[in-house]
Amino acid sequence: MRLSALLAAPLLALSLAATGADTFKLEPYRVADGVHALIGPTGARTYANHALNANYGVIETAEGTLLIDSGASRAGAELLERHAVALTGKPVRWVINTGAQDHRWLGNGHFLDKGAEVIALARTVATQQAGAADQLEALRPVLKEHLTGTTPAYASRRVTGDHETLLLGGRRIELHYFADAHFPGDVVVWLPDERIAFSGDHVYVDRLLGIRPRSNPETWLVAFDGLKRLQPAVIVPGHGSITDLATAEAQTRAYLAYLVEHVKALAEDMAGVDTAVAELADAPPFAHLENFGELHRLNVNRAYLHFESAP
Ligand SMILES: [Zn+2]
Repeated sequence: MRLSALLAAPLLALSLAATGADTFKLEPYRVADGVHALIGPTGARTYANHALNANYGVIETAEGTLLIDSGASRAGAELLERHAVALTGKPVRWVINTGAQDHRWLGNGHFLDKGAEVIALARTVATQQAGAADQLEALRPVLKEHLTGTTPAYASRRVTGDHETLLLGGRRIELHYFADAHFPGDVVVWLPDERIAFSGDHVYVDRLLGIRPRSNPETWLVAFDGLKRLQPAVIVPGHGSITDLATAEAQTRAYLAYLVEHVKALAEDMAGVDTAVAELADAPPFAHLENFGELHRLNVNRAYLHFESAP
């Protein structure tokens, strides 16, 4: 091979990667007047998608834009900011973190540097602090140089209670913590006037939810029922398309209830994790959901370990 060809190949790969990064887009969805969702892909975190494989909220107010969740990196935060400003024409003045998973908050630093206020519950921040180092470590091989400049940064306004009503640019915005869900300290952002819930990772539709080492399927059910009591007209789920309560119940609540019922019984019988995974390998009501093949057995495994160690 000629030297020029040797040089050209990596250069081409590099420029393709850069193009991929620049052209990645979240799907905007208008939920109500001045209320938008940005719908991310339901698959895995990738270099090209900046680990923005989740949904975000963009709310226009008289005094600026509120962004719900800040992305998994500085570059991801910049990408979210471009999307948000394109929708509202107003700078991002506030950011709310609904949770402690990487793509909910690792972009905070970008917005704090620009003078925006980042708002989160103190209990959400505590989980972010506990997981930050591991999350960055896990992202590094996926995002590579897309992770450059990303350092953990935490809310400048920390809410100590579990329920808070904010008035931002004339809009009423409520934060509700009901119980530990996908991560300890997950919150729902509730727009009482529009009856819209930005559920964060309380709700997954279209794809199977993921049980993480820190997920508690039992209290997640309690948290789901807190969301249900709000009787939302529209739910912007953490992952998947804009949805309603009935769909969220069928695809998130019913699956959690399935894990609690079946896995807990096997753990109490000390059946062993391998037996639990083998016995519950099918779960037909949920097998049509995206990522079922990759996640279901792992979910049973993690739920089993949770129930085995639960008091
Ligand atoms: Zn998530």
